[in-house]
Amino acid sequence: MARPHKAHLAYCPIPRKGALMRRLATGQYQATPLGLEARCTVCNEYWPADTEFFHLNQSSTTGLGARCKACDIDCRAEAQAA
Ligand SMILES: [Zn+2]
Repeated sequence: MARPHKAHLAYCPIPRKGALMRRLATGQYQATPLGLEARCTVCNEYWPADTEFFHLNQSSTTGLGARCKACDIDCRAEAQAA
């Protein structure tokens, strides 16, 4: 019997409470009726704070990188071209 494919699931890492409160206060995060959104430090857009829009960053208190995936890919491409 074939094994089912591993589903790719995006999830929202749970930020440390102090870090979340600080980010909500500074506007880096915003709570919306649809859930938590994080602002990318490069494009300044709010995106859902989950692994579909941000890369995981274990060293961050929020668990997510500061740049959205699209900007992260751009930055990497520019760094390689330089
Ligand atoms: Zn961005």
